[in-house]
Amino acid sequence: LVDREHRIVPDTVRVGGVSVGRGHPLWFAGGPCALEETDAAGRTATAVREAGGHALRGGLFKPRSSPYHFLGRGRSGLADLEKIGHASGLPIVTEVMDPRDVEAVAEVASCVQVDARNMHNRVLLAELGRIGRPVLLMRGLRAGVPEWLRAAEFVVAHGNPEVILCARGVVSFDDTLAFQPDLGALLAVRRLTDLPVVFDPSHCAGRADAVGTVALSAVLAGADGLMVETHVDPGSLYRPGDAHQMYPIDRLAALFEAANVVRD
Ligand code: PEP
Repeated sequence: LVDREHRIVPDTVRVGGVSVGRGHPLWFAGGPCALEETDAAGRTATAVREAGGHALRGGLFKPRSSPYHFLGRGRSGLADLEKIGHASGLPIVTEVMDPRDVEAVAEVASCVQVDARNMHNRVLLAELGRIGRPVLLMRGLRAGVPEWLRAAEFVVAHGNPEVILCARGVVSFDDTLAFQPDLGALLAVRRLTDLPVVFDPSHCAGRADAVGTVALSAVLAGADGLMVETHVDPGSLYRPGDAHQMYPIDRLAALFEAANVVRD
């Protein structure tokens, strides 16, 4: 279904009224990794909108690599996330990890994110096939492009053709960045499917000072948008690892502008 030859999936997916895909302006989402303190997240959302962002990202269910890290506010944060979305006027992109949470999350989110580690979770993907919301499908950290596309196929085959692929770097022997930018995968996805594909430079780079370079390279390689981690007060974040990959919010507008120039 997702194969380009058959032209069954749409080449445009709308997130809260904004079109994402090849024939459309770049789509920008920004916000914290995890939704922590509501007031700061609200101010972050407003700043993201003012910088030219089209959506707010922020996780309530966090797929951390250690059980002792902040795992997110869970369902109890949904009402706050909804309020922040309304107040800022931005649609929300947020993760879901458990199929039992899908319905509740889809009520608040304009786009439901599947994290890299859950790309392989068939039960979750099937459940997301049953909702009327776009799905942002992160590439698994060690997944090849065919495997990533098969995960998308799972969502589409269960009834939801609105999938946005999201590349975010892959595991490599080279640890100069958190993950190596998978630019070849962006080029390949362009050839293989009509589904929109965006890029997350923050989890890829793992360091704020490398986010801009990685983001612009991804746009050159054909990404239809960027999802960038940013926060009004990174020093206040619970998890120190999140703080040092937050893109400075006062430079976000310049990054988005540069991305638009690169795309032209
Ligand atoms: C995220 O976007 O917050 C995230 C955890 O991404 P990934 O699953 O790609 O690591």
